[in-house]
Amino acid sequence: MSRRRQIYEGKAKILYEGPEPGTLIQYFKDDATAFNAQKKGTIQGKGVINNRISEYVFTRLNHIGVPNHFIRRLNMREQLVRQVEIIPIEVVVRNVAAGSISKRLGIPEGEMLPHTLIEYYYKDDALGDPLIAEEHIACFGWANHDEMQDIAAMAIRVNDFMAGMFAAINIRLVDFKLEFGRIWDGDFSRVILADEISPDGCRLWDMTTGEKLDKDRFRRDLGGEEEAYQEVARRLGLLQDDNGPSEVLDLTKHRKLRGK
Ligand code: C5P
Repeated sequence: MSRRRQIYEGKAKILYEGPEPGTLIQYFKDDATAFNAQKKGTIQGKGVINNRISEYVFTRLNHIGVPNHFIRRLNMREQLVRQVEIIPIEVVVRNVAAGSISKRLGIPEGEMLPHTLIEYYYKDDALGDPLIAEEHIACFGWANHDEMQDIAAMAIRVNDFMAGMFAAINIRLVDFKLEFGRIWDGDFSRVILADEISPDGCRLWDMTTGEKLDKDRFRRDLGGEEEAYQEVARRLGLLQDDNGPSEVLDLTKHRKLRGK
């Protein structure tokens, strides 16, 4: 591997300088952490799967007009992305009660929320990413009013799109986390979706069995995390089935066969 400048190393990813100004290479690791890195481990092959899932989701979001940092996948573990100025807020979208909201407010896990909820957390490991109000964001200038409007609108669009995408493969989108960043054009900036979308940052439950297909398997010592991540990728059509020819029908082939 050629030597290149490392910009940042996070818990699950490394960012390297990209080939052109304004670009970065996002490398997906197999490392897994939970509870603010108090629990550490690896999920074999996670980086490869998350790279593919994130590519798939970001590409499709781009097609429906949700601007994001994804440019293209480079190899099994790396993708080329636009460099952004990360907004220090974790945006959590919830459809069903689970995790910290259940703990904090005593709402039973699995209870449908009356409507989709957007929460904001201040991105600071030392403080344990505390829950914040929009007033904190305005007060400390982490993002301005217009940016927050764009962020909330994009978060809802991502939720609508992903809830449908996962429902089509019998998966309930319980909740997920998004990160946004600014790109500058002279004196003007625009907010786009950044980071990744993968089972690391989503709660995904099988609609029939309720089985967890996400990082909660690691957080809660349920085991089978490799299989769960693979299952999500397989249902999205991102893994080749080993047994025989693919079930996926190819319309181009069909047209050629029929001479149309
Ligand atoms: O822990 P909590 O219930 O607040 O998490 C809500 C959602 O946000 C979950 O899908 C979780 O995976 C994601 N999350 C994340 N990174 C964090 C905190 C939460 O991806 N630092």
